[in-house]
Amino acid sequence: MMNASMSHDVKCLLILDDDAAVGRTIGFIAEGQGFVVHCFEAPDVFLAAVQDMAPSHVALDLIMPGMDGIEVLRRLAELDCQSALILTSGMGQKVLESAQATASERGLNIVGVLPKPFRPQLLRDLLCRSTAAPVRLPQAELSEAVVTPELLDEAIRARAITIVAQPKLDLLSREVVGAEILARWTDPAIGVVPPDVFIGLAEAHGMMDDLTRLVLEQAVDWFSRSALSTHGSIAVNLSTSCLTDVQLADRIEATCRASGVAPERLILEITESTAMSRTADSFDTVTRLRLKGFHLSVDDFGTGYSSLAQLARLPLSEIKIDKSFVTRLLSSQDARKIVDATIRLAKGMGLVSVAEGVEDEETLQALVSLGCSLAQGYHISRPLPVADFDRWLDLG
Ligand code: C2E
Ligand code: CA
Ligand code: CA
Repeated sequence: MMNASMSHDVKCLLILDDDAAVGRTIGFIAEGQGFVVHCFEAPDVFLAAVQDMAPSHVALDLIMPGMDGIEVLRRLAELDCQSALILTSGMGQKVLESAQATASERGLNIVGVLPKPFRPQLLRDLLCRSTAAPVRLPQAELSEAVVTPELLDEAIRARAITIVAQPKLDLLSREVVGAEILARWTDPAIGVVPPDVFIGLAEAHGMMDDLTRLVLEQAVDWFSRSALSTHGSIAVNLSTSCLTDVQLADRIEATCRASGVAPERLILEITESTAMSRTADSFDTVTRLRLKGFHLSVDDFGTGYSSLAQLARLPLSEIKIDKSFVTRLLSSQDARKIVDATIRLAKGMGLVSVAEGVEDEETLQALVSLGCSLAQGYHISRPLPVADFDRWLDLG
């Protein structure tokens, strides 16, 4: 564990760069922003100082003799370093971006990359950006040791899995036109169990049908009473295992009919990998759902390996661009190209494009100029308890 001797009210930057002149320039700019700065040329001394001082910020050159930047990142992660991390390199944007991905995967709190030669303003912007440290949940431990299948089964039976709704904004009309429904579970003893944990558990232990039914019933019931039902839609996630259930389409239809919700108001999201790993049964289910009037959306688009031919064969209405590309839209040229190409692809196929993970106004504006249809993300709203959704709509 790190020694938290440096108070985080004090802005302190530790720089590791084997080129002392570059280190001094970065330091000079940071001092102008009120930082206390220390420069290092040797990785080992730098790492010892990070451990000792727990600085608020760290700037790291990726290319150094003796120890490369990736090794330094690994060592920082071992130290549980939570400093706001800026990566610098003269090796071009691609190298920086893959190092950034490595750093994020290791749970480091990366705030951005600085290609050399750099613009002072970019460095100033990065220094201002000290995002909160990512919360690292011990997911594997949580799912295996604490959250047992029996506990989840009980929670499903007791209808203790509830739902939240995240608004989807039409980028042309600026109106909220829908909401994605997400499952939530707070166990009285354990606390909040993240969806990735309990969804995985439900999948692995054959509970996904029951869980989906519970989510869907609550979703349709809420939607039928919500102001959104007059003009909008709701989206519910279906996991791979649901699609092999040959009665799924009939059950969803019956649930909607019971609440008087027309099928065209319900979007069923399947991930790109589900869409591609389909068996004959799941293709039947997808086709039957569409025939009954439900809309289908391909979720997390860009993370799977779909061919255009496979995509064109599915009766889709919507493509959701994975948030990993959307959150990097402004910082990564590759991400921008992927988002741009996906929006064009959707348009060409007559589909609605949805960008998920929109976290700021700049990204929203970039999506408008790329011609994206809808946006969803924390910048518009976090997922809301359904009881609060209509009040939120009124306020907007
Ligand atoms: P997903 O379907 O991709 O859902 C979107 C996730 O992105 C949600 O995470 C949402 O809270 C999060 N998100 C929304 N806006 C932003 C943003 O601006 N920035 C970032 N970084 N994240 C944002 P959540 O609720 O933790 O759900 C995680 C995953 O669990 C979902 O990913 C989905 O795959 C699964 N899941 C949740 N509820 C259900 C469900 O009822 N059925 C199934 N099959 N899967 C579900
Ligand atoms: Ca989804
Ligand atoms: Ca998604």
